[in-house]
Amino acid sequence: MSRFLSPRFDRLVPYVPGEQPQNRSYVKLNTNESPFPPSPAVIEAVTREADTLNLYSDPECRVLREAIAAHFGLKKENVFVGNGSDEILAFSFLAFCDAKTGACYPDITYGFYRVYSDLCCIDGKEIPLREDFSVDPAAYCRTGRTVYLANPNAPTGMALGLDAIETVVRENPDHVVVIDEAYVDFGAESAARLVGKYDNLLVVRTYSKSRNMAGARLGFCLAGEALIGDLNTVKFSFNPYNVDRLALAAGLAAIRDTAYFAECIGKIRRTRGETVRALREMGFTVLPSEANFVFARKEGTDGKSLYLRLKERGVLVRHFDKERISDFLRITIGTEEQMAVLLGALKEILGEDGGRKA
Ligand SMILES: *Cc1c(COP(=O)(O)O)cnc(C)c1O
Repeated sequence: MSRFLSPRFDRLVPYVPGEQPQNRSYVKLNTNESPFPPSPAVIEAVTREADTLNLYSDPECRVLREAIAAHFGLKKENVFVGNGSDEILAFSFLAFCDAKTGACYPDITYGFYRVYSDLCCIDGKEIPLREDFSVDPAAYCRTGRTVYLANPNAPTGMALGLDAIETVVRENPDHVVVIDEAYVDFGAESAARLVGKYDNLLVVRTYSKSRNMAGARLGFCLAGEALIGDLNTVKFSFNPYNVDRLALAAGLAAIRDTAYFAECIGKIRRTRGETVRALREMGFTVLPSEANFVFARKEGTDGKSLYLRLKERGVLVRHFDKERISDFLRITIGTEEQMAVLLGALKEILGEDGGRKA
């Protein structure tokens, strides 16, 4: 730390992204990327758009917003586009939280909510998940805070039904409820259809997971016009050209290619089912997942050492050194072939000594 860093960041602990090794080809199941390339239409659109990179991108992102709006039966005034959904989440903390209005979210959830709370110097209250790692919707009613819920939650993969989500939205009429639907396409119910009904609901989506475009940095959110207007106030005070031309073109092509999208989602869901079955046969406890990853532990084995021994064998998964979940591994669903390598490596490790060796 230099002597110039503002004291308000003295204790800021930045988000730690999953490893992105650049020097060795791992079976990479650690950051919930899609194992499949983007739609061929995306690649064509990006190639075409590259010609115009001398010009700034559209700060209003009009064409993409219209396409997304049409996809959800909304108006473009209900859509905001960001440089990854992370940027949208950051803007929402800036716009809807302050010294008076803090935030709340589960104790076990996407780590960025805590980081954004600290970055914005606002109070972020962590509400414990239940013993079975489910979210208790009742704990999010009348919170007096901006509510952040990932649905499905990460890293558990467990989802709330739309009724429970609607209850939380209804019971916080004077606060914004942000539903982070990064993984919703893999099996959960979206709150998108409640957008017209509640002025305090913000539904955040990303192209990173279900649309095979993590590297494009593209996210969007759906909400009433007034909330979208607030996000624009923040964005135009920060970085008007937040989404580049290539990402805009890619996003448009991807949202139109519904067939390719459905095909990829179908494959991930099938492989998820097979992976859960195989892990349970090996004695793992696997939380019920509606996402493109599973959260699993094996009684009597240490999560950290299992993670390290998988890494030695060229398989990267995610481990969190955190109370309640340090025995778990979060495993992204890849291709069938990748999952076969993972399961083979796990069998080898558990065969040696039951996975106990530290
Ligand atoms: C991956 C993820 C995001 C961030 O997605 P980007 O669009 O890549 O920034 C947001 N929320 C959750 C819960 C995620 O898992």
